[in-house]
Amino acid sequence: MNTLTQPSKPYASWSKFLTDLWMHGMCNMDEGKAQDHARNLTKPLVESFTRRNEASNVRPSSFLACARQTYFSVQGHPSGDMPANIGSTFAVGHLLHEFSFAACRSAAPKELDIASEINVDLPEWWPKDETKFNQSGHIDMLCTWTDEAAKTAYLGPDAPMQMIVDFKTMGSFSYKKHGKTVWGEDPDGFGYLGQVAVYCDALGLLDSGAIIAGINRDQLTAKLLPRWIEPAALRAERDRVKMAIDMAVRGDDPGEEFLVRHDDDAHFFCGRNGKPGYCPFRDICREQPTR
Ligand code: SF4
Repeated sequence: MNTLTQPSKPYASWSKFLTDLWMHGMCNMDEGKAQDHARNLTKPLVESFTRRNEASNVRPSSFLACARQTYFSVQGHPSGDMPANIGSTFAVGHLLHEFSFAACRSAAPKELDIASEINVDLPEWWPKDETKFNQSGHIDMLCTWTDEAAKTAYLGPDAPMQMIVDFKTMGSFSYKKHGKTVWGEDPDGFGYLGQVAVYCDALGLLDSGAIIAGINRDQLTAKLLPRWIEPAALRAERDRVKMAIDMAVRGDDPGEEFLVRHDDDAHFFCGRNGKPGYCPFRDICREQPTR
């Protein structure tokens, strides 16, 4: 197998390592691994066009970006429909995810275990009411070094042995924005940070940080864009999510929390000020102002 060569000096970060690992695998794909991951694709590709399983329960990937989304979902308000022709976008996302797993597994040194689509139980503080909250989630990829000396050779002595990686397929505009996002400060309307914070807490990996890796679906030869999220930002987001869930379970309406937190920068997501908006509860939120 054509794995990523050990560098003469360690990579400066997990992000830089992952960028090279992914590209090396994309350029030197192992046929067996490509076949494994191609086989996983049939079901999700078909479902991309034939099923609209819009989330109705709170889960790590849905309704955590704003406390009022969590509240509306727990109150049983239906979320808005997705565009009817979104099937191709979902399908391309599945394809790029699976072949990203195949690429990383193709390029990984033998001491690096790459597990994909791992089912995890959510943290102990996550509500047990399965009618309103999903009870498990999926982590895209978990990288685990099985040999400390090998990890040190590739990443240096201080790098963590394990890293959660969440791939996000994005258009060129979002990909560019992803490269500059200040995680924990900038608006995160799609809840990427909340999702990885919950998963890191579930696996006891908050101290390792986590990576959100952007794949540019408009420019397929672009490199992978991994961004490492610091432990402090993950802990703060985990605490915010816990508070949002506590309020929702108590039935306390937090009001337009995302708008309060981000002011004008929230309009793109909340659909105010002439913007279309992506929040699935934007209509009911506007109909029930609290300020
Ligand atoms: S429209 Fe904005 S403030 Fe209202 S629920 Fe959605 S994200 Fe929150």
